[in-house]
Amino acid sequence: MNSKLLEIFLQGLQILKIELNQKQLEQFSIYLKELKEWNSKFNLIGPAADEEIIQKHFLDSLSIVPVIKSKITKQCVLTDIGTGAGFPGIPLKIVLPEISLTLLDSSKKKTEFLRYLCKRLEIEAKIVCGRAEEISNKPEYTKTQDIVTARAVTKIFGIEKLCSPFLKKDGILILQISSKTDFKEIKGEIMEKFIPPSAILPGRMILSLKRGFTLIELMIVVAIIGLLAAIAIPKFANMIRKSKEGATKGALGNLRSAITLYYSDFEGFQYPQNAAAIMNISGPFQTKYVNSMPTVKLGISGHTDTADMDDFNDGDTSTDLGNWGYITSQGKAFVNCIHTDTKGELISGW
Ligand code: SAH
Repeated sequence: MNSKLLEIFLQGLQILKIELNQKQLEQFSIYLKELKEWNSKFNLIGPAADEEIIQKHFLDSLSIVPVIKSKITKQCVLTDIGTGAGFPGIPLKIVLPEISLTLLDSSKKKTEFLRYLCKRLEIEAKIVCGRAEEISNKPEYTKTQDIVTARAVTKIFGIEKLCSPFLKKDGILILQISSKTDFKEIKGEIMEKFIPPSAILPGRMILSLKRGFTLIELMIVVAIIGLLAAIAIPKFANMIRKSKEGATKGALGNLRSAITLYYSDFEGFQYPQNAAAIMNISGPFQTKYVNSMPTVKLGISGHTDTADMDDFNDGDTSTDLGNWGYITSQGKAFVNCIHTDTKGELISGW
């Protein structure tokens, strides 16, 4: 790297607050030299002047460092998808050598260059030639990465879909996008939006995203919710029925006690004559023996809660109206319902 290029590079590094030692600067010098040579033969990055390589490739790749630095641990596993000639993966690895780096690209000539380059730079990295959609299905790549980077690979929605399968549960996807990108298309949770100093690359924005659900995961979540609903809702409905039955049985007991008291008050001479007498709030039965007519609650579809009561003669069958029934000749109150309760007992037989 000549002194002019070095000055541009060092200025950029200063803006990004990145300090490099001699060895690292040397590595970038070798990178520049090899990239230029291979590019002239194999067109890896298209025509690019030296300054452009420094600015658009080296420094732009390094603009991620402030975003990921705090997230780098000793075991940090990072894959750069669609890395091309190594951007941003290789500059990141030079600056943060503790990263376990995988460089993935579908182009053979680019991965060949990377294999050669890594040897020249004496850096360790796995280099994988293949399509991300296929590689992500391999167990060693599915949900294994702490960080995934992908610069200029495809449109934002497509890139999320391509990269998410590589991410661990808490993994993050780092995207370098234009600050004009439409955020509505983003499915994952945006953790951070970082605008690098404009002296590096104007109009740039770095997004760090938590992965959204994949389609299969969404389907699993929906299935689990459905299953829970199928189990829990009937159970819950049963609990409501049970509590209504309990309240109605209690009310029936009270009603029967009141009728017995009434009968004994009249020295075994007469029961309340009919349902109307029992239901009549102002009448002697209610004012003396019950405060108000209790409600029949059954929780059975077709029967609504009611305090209504019908008269029955001896031997009449239930009309299944879900209200109270009263056999005038016996002074017997019952629930006018032919359904069975939650224990399987006939309700009219309570
Ligand atoms: N990230 C580099 C290269 C960008 S060009 C940079 O910023 O300079 C896009 C690269 O993605 C190309 O090298 C292309 O071969 C690769 N690519 C595109 N689709 C891919 C896929 N589905 N799987 C793997 N690599 C892909």
